Amino acid sequence: MSTSAFGYIVLLGAPGAGKGTQAERLESDLGLPHIATGDLFRAALKQQTELGKLAQSYMDRGVLVPDDVTIAMVRERFTQPDAAKGAILDGFPRTVDQATALDAMLQERGAGVTLAPYIKVTTETLLSRLAGRWVCRRCGGVYHMLYNPPAREGVCDSCGGELYQRSDDTPATQLHRIEVYLSETAPLIEFYRDRGLLAEVDGEQNIDGVYRDLLERVRRATQRPS
Ligand SMILES: [Zn+2]
Repeated sequence: MSTSAFGYIVLLGAPGAGKGTQAERLESDLGLPHIATGDLFRAALKQQTELGKLAQSYMDRGVLVPDDVTIAMVRERFTQPDAAKGAILDGFPRTVDQATALDAMLQERGAGVTLAPYIKVTTETLLSRLAGRWVCRRCGGVYHMLYNPPAREGVCDSCGGELYQRSDDTPATQLHRIEVYLSETAPLIEFYRDRGLLAEVDGEQNIDGVYRDLLERVRRATQRPS
């Protein structure tokens, strides 16, 4: 039986929660495009689009790309025909401001966020998964020695940049990053909970278990006629 899914899914989860892997599986099962902000940045850098150059100017200075640049990139991505029926958003929105911008963007298309699944993982589990991460010095692409190794050791697949493990990447600094993420994301989780859109998924299970739960929630939400 083939059914087509409709809807905009906002995947939430801390670094190490396995969002990217789950989003790719949803993409192939639901036929909705996986839109990851990390990929949008890397593509824009590679193609040297105006937004790409703008984003790069911030990255080169080592500062966060501002919300309006990120929002513009997502808006541009939404104009492509494959996103007309929906999308799986990964890494966006990251803040309540971005979530509000997303609502406005979708409203223009007569749509809205369909579901915000939150893959919930304990800090201990996140820490053990984060050991083994390598980051591209140039584009910020993230690799993992076990789960997502680059084709050539120490070299970024996307841009050829040098991969590094931060020398200050101790469990304490990782813990700090997770805490920063959780404190940034907490208001976002409340934002979607208040709207009745949050769906918590137990991320402590293995990848298949998480996916089974996630798919069930997403299917129920996206196949409802709307
Ligand atoms: Zn790179």
